[in-house]
Amino acid sequence: MKKAQQLKELIHRIDGKGYKAYKQLEEYYEFNGFTLFVDHVQGDPYAAPSALRARIQLCDTSIPPRVMENERRILAAEDFLTRLFLTTSGKICKGIRGTGTSGLISIQKPGQEILKRSSVVLNDEYLEFRCYASLPARGRTIMGPVAESMLLSELPGIVQLSSNFDSTIQNRLNIHADTYEDYCALRDELSPHGLVAFIPDGAILPRKSGINSQPLSNSDGPVVSFQSPEALEITLQTPNKGPVSGMGIPKGVTVIAGGGFHGKSTLLNAIQMGVYGHLPLDGRELAATVPDAVKIRAEDGRSIQNINISPFIRNLPFGKDTTSFSTTNASGSTSQAANIMEAIEAKATLLLIDEDTSATNFMIRDDKMKAIVRKEPITPLIDVIRSLYQDQGISSILVTGGAGDYFEVADTVILMEDYLPEEITAKARTELRDVDTKFTMDPDSLNRRVQLPSPMKGNKETFAAKGKTTLQIGQTFVDISALEQIAEVYQTECIAFLLKQYNDAMATGTAPMDTAMERIFQRFTSGGFRNIKRGNLAVPRKQEVLFTINRTRGIQTGKKDK
Ligand code: ADP
Ligand code: MG
Repeated sequence: MKKAQQLKELIHRIDGKGYKAYKQLEEYYEFNGFTLFVDHVQGDPYAAPSALRARIQLCDTSIPPRVMENERRILAAEDFLTRLFLTTSGKICKGIRGTGTSGLISIQKPGQEILKRSSVVLNDEYLEFRCYASLPARGRTIMGPVAESMLLSELPGIVQLSSNFDSTIQNRLNIHADTYEDYCALRDELSPHGLVAFIPDGAILPRKSGINSQPLSNSDGPVVSFQSPEALEITLQTPNKGPVSGMGIPKGVTVIAGGGFHGKSTLLNAIQMGVYGHLPLDGRELAATVPDAVKIRAEDGRSIQNINISPFIRNLPFGKDTTSFSTTNASGSTSQAANIMEAIEAKATLLLIDEDTSATNFMIRDDKMKAIVRKEPITPLIDVIRSLYQDQGISSILVTGGAGDYFEVADTVILMEDYLPEEITAKARTELRDVDTKFTMDPDSLNRRVQLPSPMKGNKETFAAKGKTTLQIGQTFVDISALEQIAEVYQTECIAFLLKQYNDAMATGTAPMDTAMERIFQRFTSGGFRNIKRGNLAVPRKQEVLFTINRTRGIQTGKKDK
């Protein structure tokens, strides 16, 4: 291993030379208090920045021992330390000084969710920051003095302050870990209590705006904090905060009704993001939803491969088969039907549906329309939703302001008024309506597809995220903007990373897609990020990885061999 002094001398030697000379920096260096790994040096000042890791022995950090007690707390600590490094870097790094982003020191920029991130690895031995440096140049000429300041003064300063901190930050770190641990405990409590979601009293659900997911604050206008209706109130236990009371949404069919602008979608959004933990003071930090809940929406234009949508759609014009339906350009209703059947394939136990993002003809058909339109291939969701629960055990939470018929198929009806929920099941419903449409096919053969060999074209270089909502696989771009439960671009990066492995596995095997994904996910999550030396990943759910494959044009799928 080289000494920091040797890095300094090397930078002096390459000052003023062509950019390629930076390649010589790829080495390990012993600094005062940490080891610096220069894993990858960028090819030019416009390329993705150079990848660094700074490793500090755990005994040389001020991380409180309480943080290291279990995996959940460690995950939260890694998330916290990423944020600490980011803000510290904002204070110490002198910013852009040259061509492109020359001079920047960066790390993941997390949002409101607490996620398993590859940006920090914390274990019994060491704390490691995976950060990025844009090695500075003017044009393609190396700026030695700036590089020296970045790597020998700014970076060590950031690492020092992000690993050795005072009791104020230690307390914040402990609160971060406590909060996440409590969230996980609440999520664990759902199923034993027959619940699919929990929203604590006092929660702040509304966000600043559609593009800013920080909590709405009183300076933005009056904010109504959440209060459970008495009938749904439940108290659950947490390890740190003790008992927490709030609204439990039971398994079954739940309808959230209410006038426009009364907070229905805001509540559903909190539920759909409740599959993740959130920052202390997010307002939703103790809102928890079963981990496999899937938001279902209409998504016209998407491609569909061999999906059995026959529970919803039959007798299409010219006898098009709907038990194995494919299209390159789905309609609103066929896309929503496919989204549900794919969610079932991915083993979702809770579907979340908002009329704001649904196809009307998929949701409901009224009597006047039934009398006039004779050739209607669609069985609306309202006729299937009960059997989804009764026969398949799949619950749903459905937001509607317009379709009161849904009251008749609901186990629970919640009315949102002035942002507050009321339980009105008895009032809204005369009797639970029986459904005439049942799933007729064998649940075992329901959407278990295999991917045929040589599915996605692309090599190591071309499985990449292009922002949060697009993936590039070879020459193909996959639009995943409808996957609302992807929280960050780093999850999209991770989906690209996992698709590469999935692609390799599926090139030879014929396991069902969901089983193959299960296996890859298992291997991936059990290993942690210790051996994956990249700092730009955050773990998505396996559902979103499968849903990305479903949206990839040109993949070939077939039925599972019996
Ligand atoms: P709906 O789906 O019922 O039409 P939304 O959930 O979209 O209503 O909410 C309408 C508006 O009210 C949004 O701008 C949202 O941010 C705001 N809002 C929602 N819940 C609250 C609340 N508890 N306190 C203050 N404002 C809220
Ligand atoms: Mg709405």
